[in-house]
Amino acid sequence: MIPFVDLQAQFRKIESSVRRRMDAVLAHGQFIMGPEVGELEKELGRYVGVEHAISCSSGTDALVMALMALGIGPGDCVFVPVMTFIATSEAVERVGARPCFVDVDPRTFNLDPSDLERRIRDAKADPKCGRPAAVMVVNLFGLCADFEAIDAIAKKHGLEVVEDAAQSFGAVHRGRKSGALAKISCTSFFPAKPLGGYGDGGAIFTSDAAIADALRSMRVHGQGRERYEHVRLGFTARLDTLQAAILLAKMEVFEEEILARGRVAQTYSRFLGELPKAPVTPMIPANERSAWAQYSITFADRASRDAARKGLEASGIPSVVYYPIPLHRQPVYAALGYAPGDFPNAVRMSETILSLPMHPYLDESVAGRAAESIRESLKNV
Ligand SMILES: *Cc1c(COP(=O)(O)O)cnc(C)c1O
Repeated sequence: MIPFVDLQAQFRKIESSVRRRMDAVLAHGQFIMGPEVGELEKELGRYVGVEHAISCSSGTDALVMALMALGIGPGDCVFVPVMTFIATSEAVERVGARPCFVDVDPRTFNLDPSDLERRIRDAKADPKCGRPAAVMVVNLFGLCADFEAIDAIAKKHGLEVVEDAAQSFGAVHRGRKSGALAKISCTSFFPAKPLGGYGDGGAIFTSDAAIADALRSMRVHGQGRERYEHVRLGFTARLDTLQAAILLAKMEVFEEEILARGRVAQTYSRFLGELPKAPVTPMIPANERSAWAQYSITFADRASRDAARKGLEASGIPSVVYYPIPLHRQPVYAALGYAPGDFPNAVRMSETILSLPMHPYLDESVAGRAAESIRESLKNV
């Protein structure tokens, strides 16, 4: 079986830089908030094009702190795309607010602005939803959502916008980098993300100085101006110095890697596009650069998807379904009272989508083999 994400191939390329930077940390011994943390934050802020990058313990913690910094809490309702990793909605509940789901666009898989309008109207008419306070915009699979349309709706209804850039670090939306598309943006350094570390980590981006100060305080127990003075409730949510050192080594090759991911995606689309019963390949709108966290295709129906998946497995090519259960059908959200057929685009997506191996070092021959295997599998359905 070839790896779905090949971290070993990347390590062979960056090994000397990783070891050199880790050795430097072992030598100076400042394992918490050592100099590499500040150096990484500067580098991240410069790359994204924002004033402040605040590193932290994970993408999930980044989202929780972002919502806290915006003052969102009990009595508030926060709109979340129904097709995302659960961390997005989990963060909403961690601050005591209620998640309110929104369907996705069937072509981009991102939050559908017209459904957002509808769900805001519904929420305003439903007392148990609380005050519509914010929308979490997820850039699924690495492609940025339609921020212009979403911002206009958010403005009209007085909602804060939070960018969940966990899958889209490195993406570009109409000339602006992901991470700079909202007042607060969050990303993750989970190993399999476009910029992944060797453990958990995350970062928050903002150009608002007061929010940045609050976030820096929150990640160290609500520390005030002095040590052991605490001005708010906070967390232990720092990024380890060793992790920052590793991420600095990975930043050296990151831009190159994003371009390589783009070439892998092109190769897949070329091979798959030639098939007689071609699956639908990713649609990247003009003026967008995806970070290609995933290369995801959709099939005519569930039977075709499942047959393709089985065939790929027999050919030694792994594939993953992101996500098999939309959030409104998750057991943990039974109490929210959604019906299974709510959010038809997300339901259909969960039944027909498949993500193929994607990383910057993927051999071109895999795309050809995957396409050949899918051609064979679809003959019999
Ligand atoms: C991975 C992910 C997160 C959470 O990041 P962690 O670092 O694993 O906590 C949040 N949102 C989305 C969309 C993700 O893919």
